[in-house]
Amino acid sequence: MYHRRVSGERLCAGCFLDSIEDQVRGNITKYSMLRPNDRIAVAVSGGKDSVSLLHMLYRIEKCFPKSELVAITVDEGISGYREEAVGIAQENCRKLGVRQIIVSFDELYGQDLDGIVKRSGAGGGFTPCAYCGVLRRKALNIVARAAGATKLATAHNLDDEVQTMFLNVLHGDPWRIARVEPVLLSEHSKLVPRVKPLFSIPEIETALYAYLTEIRFQSVSCPYVSESLRNDVRMVLNGLEEKYPGMKLTVLRSFEKIRPALKERTEKVPLRECEICGEPTVGSVCRPCKSLVDLGVVKPKQQD
Ligand code: SF4
Ligand code: ZN
Repeated sequence: MYHRRVSGERLCAGCFLDSIEDQVRGNITKYSMLRPNDRIAVAVSGGKDSVSLLHMLYRIEKCFPKSELVAITVDEGISGYREEAVGIAQENCRKLGVRQIIVSFDELYGQDLDGIVKRSGAGGGFTPCAYCGVLRRKALNIVARAAGATKLATAHNLDDEVQTMFLNVLHGDPWRIARVEPVLLSEHSKLVPRVKPLFSIPEIETALYAYLTEIRFQSVSCPYVSESLRNDVRMVLNGLEEKYPGMKLTVLRSFEKIRPALKERTEKVPLRECEICGEPTVGSVCRPCKSLVDLGVVKPKQQD
């Protein structure tokens, strides 16, 4: 059924599914991602990766009666796209009996992504994904913390991780590659530690996993995706992978080798609380608040 070109394996459906679940369990163990009594917040958007992760963690968590799952769905407010995804996320949570918390950009920030994109057209200077990424990360942390989660699990796969590494280089900030890790420990009491159990699994295999397990997921793409640099990087990397199988995994492993050296050379700046929202940040104002101030969505803090 599946020819894994990297290893040369030819797998039937059952062996393929077992191999994915074994890899995920292996990642969790090798990187000490989860403890038996964790309350795990899972970021579930309704896409194939996040819904597959929810189902896998549900199965794994059943062996640990003291652990607990809670799903968090962020509705960014993308008209004609997000409504379906939220419904699919809801359906999967209901099926598994997992508590779900849905939060929208509008509730949290007073503006949805469509509104932000309209405002940014008047001079914000970033792509929709740039706003979406930082605001979603902040939303997930706020909701996970409020839910008492001890871990926040996200469905970043191998493709996502390698794209992020390249994007950091293309943005002229190679030191940030040190932060592209399967486990991000908390550096502040308000930051929930993040784990990425799928980080070594290629996107094509997470898609196949969802398809073979008949999990319902959203298959259409976000209308903003084509505007992002990430999308261009994705296409280049997919072209290379097609020609040189295993290339993405090789890049991931290469960066893993230089990560300790990058970390050593990166100055560790203690986090403090944002002057506007109180969330952890390196500067005086966090990036999400800065974006919202620039767009006129929130007011800058008045100096005394
Ligand atoms: Fe947000 Fe971009 Fe993803 Fe759309 S493609 S959901 S705008 S990050
Ligand atoms: Zn802030």
